[in-house]
Amino acid sequence: MIPISDLKKQTAPLRTEIDNAIKEVIDNANFILGKPVQDFENDAAKYCRVRYAVGVSNGTDAIRLSLLASGIKYGDRVICPAFTYYATAGAIVSIGAMPVFADIESRTYNISVASIRDILGNRKAGSHIRAIIPVHLYGQCADMDSILEIANAHKLKVIEDAAQAFGAEYRGNKAGTMSDCAAVSFYPGKNLGAFGDAGMVLTNSRSVAQAVKTLRNQGDVGKYNHPVIGFNHRLDTLQAAVLRVKLRYLDGWNRKRQENAAYFESKLGGLNLATPFVPKYNTHIYHQYTLRLAAPSAKIIEHLRNSGIDARVYYPQPLHLQKCFKYLGYKKGDFPESERAAQQAFAIPVYPDLTKKELDYIIHSIKEFLR
Ligand SMILES: *Cc1c(COP(=O)(O)O)cnc(C)c1O
Repeated sequence: MIPISDLKKQTAPLRTEIDNAIKEVIDNANFILGKPVQDFENDAAKYCRVRYAVGVSNGTDAIRLSLLASGIKYGDRVICPAFTYYATAGAIVSIGAMPVFADIESRTYNISVASIRDILGNRKAGSHIRAIIPVHLYGQCADMDSILEIANAHKLKVIEDAAQAFGAEYRGNKAGTMSDCAAVSFYPGKNLGAFGDAGMVLTNSRSVAQAVKTLRNQGDVGKYNHPVIGFNHRLDTLQAAVLRVKLRYLDGWNRKRQENAAYFESKLGGLNLATPFVPKYNTHIYHQYTLRLAAPSAKIIEHLRNSGIDARVYYPQPLHLQKCFKYLGYKKGDFPESERAAQQAFAIPVYPDLTKKELDYIIHSIKEFLR
């Protein structure tokens, strides 16, 4: 099977460096908020050209803390796309706020600005909305200029869900640096992955960064003084040490993903399926390489899997149709582009260590199906 990602292959050439970084943490026994956490935060902030980077426990908690640090409270409503990973909306609910779903643009799979406008123009749906969470899905940014313009006009906070886009760029700005604050995930399968759960909040605001630092550490501002309710959402020193080594390789890996995507495009472009659409403003880092048929994807996925290729659907059910969000009152047909994408889009392996032979075999198998 050609897997959807191959972490063993990725880790092997870095093994000595990573082993040494882990050994150092064990030798120093500074497991909680040790120096490698600050070092990694500094490296990540520099990499993203953003003022503050605060390491947290995972990407979901990064969204939670971003919302809380932005002043979003119980009962507030937050716009997010219906077509994203569960955690975007789960994090909103976890702080007592309410997700308001928007549809996506069919070509980029990112939140539709027209859909945001519709929601904000509707007096009932648009009331109590305090923030927008655009998701930079599959590794390319949503249309940030338009989103920031609407948000400004309605005095809404913007929190980027950059979980899949650490290192991507929008008009030369790194993903996660264009809004009030942003959430990043270092889940092992992401382009920059830890050896377990890890995440980060990025922001240019000193007060937001300070709030996240307090909230991630039980609301403690020192000497067991807790002015606010906080949580245990700290980034482990061990994960920070591993991530610090891996960050140095990220641009090389992302370039390989882009080369693989360009090769797919050269062989699959113009056939009877849609290859990824990248607007001029974006530099895509291909966390996923997503193709799309004008028909349900089930048959091609079955064909590819029978051929030994781990094709997958991200995500097969839009959030407004998930049972857990039934109480929000949405129904089938509410977000047609999200529903169509869930049926038709599918991802093929694009990870950096794919060989030319594997790429050719994937291309061959797709063409075989199309014939
Ligand atoms: C991975 C992911 C998250 C959650 O990150 P975790 O680190 O797994 O908590 C949130 N949003 C999106 C879009 C993701 O892909």
